[in-house]
Amino acid sequence: MKNILQTASGLIDSHEDHIRENIAREESSVSFYKRSIHKTDGAIVSMGRDQKERFLMVVSAKETGLISEFSGEQIGDGGIFARKCPLNHHNAKIIRKYFPWTVPTSAAGHDLTVGFGDRIGLATLGHVAAANSFKIFPVLAQQSVRELQMTGRTFFDVIDDVTFQVFEAGYKDGYGADADHLKTIGDIEIAYAAGMTFFTIDISDRIKVAALEYDDKQLETAFAQLDKDAQGRALDKYSGKEFKVGGKKIAFTEKMAKLCAVLYADAITFGIDAAAHLKSLDSRNHDLEICFDEVNFSTPVEHHFYIARELHDNGVDFATIAPSFSKDFEQAIAFNSTPEEFGKIFALHNVVAEFFNSRLSIHSGSGKEALFAIIAKLTGGKFHIKISGTSWLEAVRLIAVKDPVLFKIMYSCARDNVERLKKFYNVSPDIDSIPEVSGIYDDQLTALLERPSVTQMMHVGYGAILKDKAIHPMLIAILHKTEKEYVEGLKNIYTGYLELMGAVRK
Ligand SMILES: [Zn+2]
Repeated sequence: MKNILQTASGLIDSHEDHIRENIAREESSVSFYKRSIHKTDGAIVSMGRDQKERFLMVVSAKETGLISEFSGEQIGDGGIFARKCPLNHHNAKIIRKYFPWTVPTSAAGHDLTVGFGDRIGLATLGHVAAANSFKIFPVLAQQSVRELQMTGRTFFDVIDDVTFQVFEAGYKDGYGADADHLKTIGDIEIAYAAGMTFFTIDISDRIKVAALEYDDKQLETAFAQLDKDAQGRALDKYSGKEFKVGGKKIAFTEKMAKLCAVLYADAITFGIDAAAHLKSLDSRNHDLEICFDEVNFSTPVEHHFYIARELHDNGVDFATIAPSFSKDFEQAIAFNSTPEEFGKIFALHNVVAEFFNSRLSIHSGSGKEALFAIIAKLTGGKFHIKISGTSWLEAVRLIAVKDPVLFKIMYSCARDNVERLKKFYNVSPDIDSIPEVSGIYDDQLTALLERPSVTQMMHVGYGAILKDKAIHPMLIAILHKTEKEYVEGLKNIYTGYLELMGAVRK
């Protein structure tokens, strides 16, 4: 312990360029992240790691002040005080208090914003390594309510994990925290309380999808059941009307107006209520997104216009909007049609988004690299994209290389649960097309991962893998051990993504 103390106190003079200063001593090896070394209030705060875990190290000449606020093991003696502190919620709060650049902020004013997200809590260093070179606003903390349920994490955990890694990387350019797919007022309150800054209100579940199959008579009956005001609004504002939207015409027949009213009445009401509730809570700047991407039909551009206008007319000031671009827009794999076909639909949605002074938000961007260039071109570089699945799959790929035995356990766990888990996502892996892993040689595991059905299985498999009490600690241990490779891998992938998205280099 004395050695740790001596090294930590001397860190400020360190000249090594790399993030890590390795100081092997006796039986254990402790190193510190050079960019994490910060001096404030007469103390040095830094992040370190040993063979088992990462931790905060606080060194101070006095026993009071900043050092006394951190919880941890006091290891100082003789006029210098040091505390080795676990990465818990209490200590994350102290970091945010003394280093305000570790607090998430609003994405407002940025053209290209990228939702990185991280289900494991170890990927932010890789995200920052890539984002640092570009003029983008990274939403480093991003997690959906569903992901939290699957992984057993909370919004607090999500922000805390990012806080420590932002601190560790010494990254001071600001980041966002997206509470994704919020479907209830309760979800919004929990996310707000945790300090999230970007709220994605998901109205999909309240869309009356069955109405798409109605015949004329059923539609009339359903429309007549709406309250009189809603009926009047739909007819007055939309029936037989044509709108000029950024050089395009968007026209509504009476039937389309009625269909939109029936389909979206409850969804829009929820959007309005949720946005108003958020406003009533909020004393800080936040970003608001409205999403309805997770439905089994592509959003016609007229429907997008209808939803956006109704929200807009009711005071919902959304910054980004996520329609469903295609029912073929499955998660984690390439898009089923050509970029040109996608571009035709996407361009129209972008015109509508711009008309309402918002940007399009593309969910499930992981694996859709072929579309990044056309998205960048059609939006003029103004869009939001969520690509969190990539970080998980990169962890899976790395484990396949570094620890084939663990990979096979993870694979089997995902395979056993894929039928259950795929219901939560827009994926269609067929269990019969996914081989058992026992007969596969170790050096063929990464090739196996390239198969779309296997990619999708592992993409959704996190829900079983990360919750498994035996697998989770093994996974964290191997990623801790291979941290450098994981960060490098993520940096390379995301740098490639950002280049394809036309992100401007700093
Ligand atoms: Zn989504």
